[in-house]
Amino acid sequence: MREKLKTDEEYKRDLTPEQYHVARRKGTEPAFSGKYWDHHEDGVYNCVCCGTPLFDSETKYDSGTGWPSFYEPIAQENVKTEADDSYGMHRIEVKCSTCGAHLGHVFDDGPKPTRQRFCMNSASLDFKKK
Ligand code: FE
Repeated sequence: MREKLKTDEEYKRDLTPEQYHVARRKGTEPAFSGKYWDHHEDGVYNCVCCGTPLFDSETKYDSGTGWPSFYEPIAQENVKTEADDSYGMHRIEVKCSTCGAHLGHVFDDGPKPTRQRFCMNSASLDFKKK
């Protein structure tokens, strides 16, 4: 059975202020500022809040945006998407399906084979080497 999810107070205690702002408050880290946009090791990117595996380094590519970008999640059921019409834009938000953490957005201008671009925040991810 899955462990009980943390409360907002517990996330605030256990995450850095930037991780909390991005993952729990739908923030966005500045481009080229995060620890993973230029990160190339082999491994898995997990949810920083709950540890759910989200993206494999094999699907990571350089999108030129300054955010870590992937063409597909590790498993479709590990992420969920939601319409996000904030800031006068129509975007698709990507969240951790386990804990609801805000991860980033997905766009349809990615590379083959999926043509999708999962544009993520480093602050929402926790990399574990293979
Ligand atoms: Fe999570």
